[in-house]
Amino acid sequence: MSQPVADYHMHTPLCKHAEGAPWQYAQRAVEVGLTEIGFSEHAPMIRDHYDPWHMDRADVDTYIRDVETAREKFPELTIRIGLEVDFLPGHEAWIEDLAARYDWDYFIGSVHYLDEEWDMDNPYKLDRWRNGDVQAIWRRYYQLLADSVTSDLFDIVGHADLCKKFAFYPDGDPASYAVDFLDTVARCGKAIEINTAGLRKDCKEMYPAPDILRMARERNIPLTMGSDAHAPQEVGMDFDAGLALAKEAGYRETLRFEERCATPVPLA
Ligand code: ZN
Ligand code: FE
Ligand code: FE
Ligand code: ZN
Repeated sequence: MSQPVADYHMHTPLCKHAEGAPWQYAQRAVEVGLTEIGFSEHAPMIRDHYDPWHMDRADVDTYIRDVETAREKFPELTIRIGLEVDFLPGHEAWIEDLAARYDWDYFIGSVHYLDEEWDMDNPYKLDRWRNGDVQAIWRRYYQLLADSVTSDLFDIVGHADLCKKFAFYPDGDPASYAVDFLDTVARCGKAIEINTAGLRKDCKEMYPAPDILRMARERNIPLTMGSDAHAPQEVGMDFDAGLALAKEAGYRETLRFEERCATPVPLA
C-alpha cells in the first residue's frame, strides 16, 4: 500500500540520540510504502557541545554524504535533505550561515529552548516544569514559536505544541494559546507539520492537537507530516492515523519540498 504523504521528519545517529544509518531509514520507508522521505537532523548549534543532542558543526558533510548513500541504495525512493533547526533569539546569523552551506530542501524550525539553558522537552529537566508557572511557560513557548515564524528562516514549524509533551497543561483551552501564533504562520505563508511522535510521549497525542490542526486549516496553513523517527522502525509510524486526522481537519493536500520550494500534492 503506498502512502500519499512524505515523511519529512527523520533523524540520524549524528545527533547522538538516534540509531540506524540513513540507508536503513530509507529501507524501512520502502517497506512501509512511502515514496518520498526527507531527513531533518538536529542542526549544529552556534557552538559544539551546547548540549548532548545536536550534531557537531564538522559533521554536516558526513550527514550529506550519508543521505547520498541512501539515495544510491534506494533510487526508487525520493529522498530530500533538510535540517531541524533550533530557533533561539540571537542565533539568526548562525542559521543563515547553515542555510548557505548547502542546497537544503527545507528547514524545520523548532522551539525546544525557552531560554539558553532550558530545553523544555528534556526529560532530565522536568523540575523546571514542576516548579514553574505552566501558563507562563505555554505563553513563552508560543511567543518564541511566533518569533521563529517571523524570522523567515524556516519553511515548516516543527511539532507546534511541543509544550504539551509531558502533559503539563495550562488553565483553559490549550488551543487558545496558539491563536496568535497561527495567525502569524498564515500571514508569513509558512507550513506546519503533523508530527506523530507525540503519540509516543506522555501527552499520547500527535503534535499539534486536533483543535490546533483545525484552526490551521481554517487559516489555509499548508501541511507536511513527519514521524520524528530516531530509529529506522519509526519511519512512517502512525501515518494512517495522521492522515485521518489531517482529513478530519479538512486537509486535501500536503506539501512537498525541493530546494526550499513547496509544491502541493493531493492526499487522495
Ligand atoms: Zn531528537
Ligand atoms: Fe524537535
Ligand atoms: Fe526531530
Ligand atoms: Zn523533533
